[in-house]
Amino acid sequence: MDSAQEDVLQKIAELGVQFIRLWFTDVSGSLKSVAIDPAELEDAFNEGIGFDGSAIEGFTRVYESDMLLRPDASTFQILPWRGEDAEVGRMFCDVYTPDLQPARSDPRRVLERQLERAANLGFTFNIHPEIEFYLLQPPTSLDAPLRPIDNASYFDHVPNGGDNSFRRRAVAMLEEMGISVEFSHHENGPGQNEIDLRASDALTGSDNIMTFRILIEEIAMQDDMVATFMPKPMAGEAGSGMHTHMSLFEGEHNAFYDGASDIYQLSATGQAFTAGLLAHAREYSAVVNQHVNSYKRLWGGSEAPSYICWGHNNRSALVRVPLYKPEKAGDARIEYRGTDPAANPYLAYAALLAAGLDGIEKEMKLPLETEDDVWRLSDKERRAQGIPALPLTLEEALSELRQSEFMAKVLGEEVFSYVLRNKEREWREYSAQITRGELAKFLRV
Ligand code: GLU
Ligand code: MG
Ligand code: MG
Repeated sequence: MDSAQEDVLQKIAELGVQFIRLWFTDVSGSLKSVAIDPAELEDAFNEGIGFDGSAIEGFTRVYESDMLLRPDASTFQILPWRGEDAEVGRMFCDVYTPDLQPARSDPRRVLERQLERAANLGFTFNIHPEIEFYLLQPPTSLDAPLRPIDNASYFDHVPNGGDNSFRRRAVAMLEEMGISVEFSHHENGPGQNEIDLRASDALTGSDNIMTFRILIEEIAMQDDMVATFMPKPMAGEAGSGMHTHMSLFEGEHNAFYDGASDIYQLSATGQAFTAGLLAHAREYSAVVNQHVNSYKRLWGGSEAPSYICWGHNNRSALVRVPLYKPEKAGDARIEYRGTDPAANPYLAYAALLAAGLDGIEKEMKLPLETEDDVWRLSDKERRAQGIPALPLTLEEALSELRQSEFMAKVLGEEVFSYVLRNKEREWREYSAQITRGELAKFLRV
């Protein structure tokens, strides 16, 4: 055992922790959890805890059916929402095969592989996600219209509003779990909120997003509300995005900053990274926007991006490059606005990092900045400016993914084919439905 593992054992004894939850994420992005007795933990650290992988989405290859969870001691935290009677601790795990090889179907491993690639080039990768979600009154049936908990809008302060005390409690619990929050506010839609996490390395950041989703759902439930990370829950209201600010560091030095650059002080490295993000945007779309519903957000207006371009203060662009204050060079970053909060964060950030690194390795050149509101341009104008569109549907995104050697490499063979199979099924099931809109076209009521 190493010293981090010994620290965890000591903490558990001191705090009288009664259960340890071992967390991992399946390929579709759902959190999985198994509880063990603290007495098992030493074995879990040394040998791993066995589980049947064939029962988990995306882990289904027969020879991998017996798998091992090996807890990452650096992620140990007490769950603050469990009440006071029994302390419950949790750790994220890496998944291994019985012969102690990292499981190729483990999404955390897919990200770790890209982070290793970045490290070989001398970089660490930081992310700062802005997570949007809706708070609703518990729906009584799927046919009833959704009822958001308030009617407020962007940055509104709701007097005695449920959202205020909700955000206060959520932020306090996130901080208790070591997840730093930078901002939180009411968003544009009724009942829509946003909480922005402070920058961290992408592995910690992805673990934090998984924790965040569970924590928000738990607190909402305690207040008799439902929290949803669905990208577009109501057709006429804003969708929920997960814009992510990103940067690469070389040691202490922010590799995206160059005070002499005339492109908003974005360094050559930052420019090539952004060029890579734009170049591969259609190929990784099915991973950062993985649901049928994701495309209703992208094409439903309300400041979600639909076109592949970059700009400075341009909220219609897929990537925004803010201007940095020279005295805060460490802040240099770009904002990728495509991602939604229903993504599998490990796969999404693996894809975004890989696209950026490809831009750096191939020395890709940044296209011209888009200064106009791209939604207002005509198709002809967009074509003349060389601005492609994001896929219109999950099906279009899947046909891009299917042909992408780049994504096959990033995800690895197992995850790549599972994502395709799983998402093709989602598309088929969706296509078999008859919607209210279709009925309205044919029936007079
Ligand atoms: N809700 C918008 C989206 O889906 C983002 C609004 C904002 O700029 O924060 O991306
Ligand atoms: Mg927002
Ligand atoms: Mg933003």
